[in-house]
Amino acid sequence: RMDHRALEMETKLYKAIHQDLLELHYQPKIDIKSNKMIGMEALLRWHDSELGQIPPNKFIPIAEESGLICDIGEWVLRKASLQILQWKEQYGLNLRVAVNISPTHFEEPCFIDRLKIIIEETKVDPKSLEIEITELSMMHYNKELINKIKKLKDLGLTISIDDFGTGYSSLSYLKNFPVDTLKIDRSFIVNMIDGDSNIAMVSAIISLAHALKMNVVAEGVETEYELEILKKHHCEFVQGYYFSKPLSVSDFDRFLENNR
Ligand code: C2E
Ligand code: MG
Ligand code: MG
Repeated sequence: RMDHRALEMETKLYKAIHQDLLELHYQPKIDIKSNKMIGMEALLRWHDSELGQIPPNKFIPIAEESGLICDIGEWVLRKASLQILQWKEQYGLNLRVAVNISPTHFEEPCFIDRLKIIIEETKVDPKSLEIEITELSMMHYNKELINKIKKLKDLGLTISIDDFGTGYSSLSYLKNFPVDTLKIDRSFIVNMIDGDSNIAMVSAIISLAHALKMNVVAEGVETEYELEILKKHHCEFVQGYYFSKPLSVSDFDRFLENNR
């Protein structure tokens, strides 16, 4: 089933993890009212000496199919935790960093235990850690899943649903999951320019979130126009190129220096 290119990539990815060739970039999340940064999202970057820069949308599916995704997810959690501590020491900032966890990894029975080990080993404050899971992780609605999310909450972590609105899942699951934040998928934000019905969609998602006592992050905000509409509809947080692209750690240090 796997073609040659995918197999080659899998081999390279395996090496990349074990030789520490992956990198995390960080994109700020901004409070729409105060324009202040409230935290950031960690996003994987992989540069291969032969294949060049490979976007996560290409290699994450391969990692999922091959089972490498659990190693990758744990690497990301550990790396992000250490970075949180580094920034805290350097700038005295308590920034919350969100990590993307793919459904396959999240569904692993040992996910929580392994996470606990990472928290203990790095000594990160769990309140500084946020987990982003896509709607796909929520599709198989059951007690076990709810318990898992509750356990994460009990540990002190924050939970977001990523790419909200794209999962075609039933809305009825939402009220039963103790999640903190909905992230409106960029496809909704980008389409707001095409008229009122698309704005109505975004507005409806924001209302839904607030009715369920959740916060909202709009993903992929690129323009002043988008920002203004989101403000008007009481969206709390935004993320996107309008404020900043995902930044390498050294670029982020510069960003923090400039925004002190
Ligand atoms: P995501 O979690 O929804 O991340 C947001 C994506 O939108 C990122 O793409 C980000 O660079 C991009 N983005 C942010 N602002 C803008 C904007 O204003 N305009 C546009 N056009 N794009 C914007 P990226 O980094 O390529 O990641 C793509 C997806 O790959 C992520 O979507 C996530 O699903 C996955 N991914 C990335 N890092 C990880 C990771 O560490 N673990 C897992 N499991 N998945 C990851
Ligand atoms: Mg995300
Ligand atoms: Mg997203």
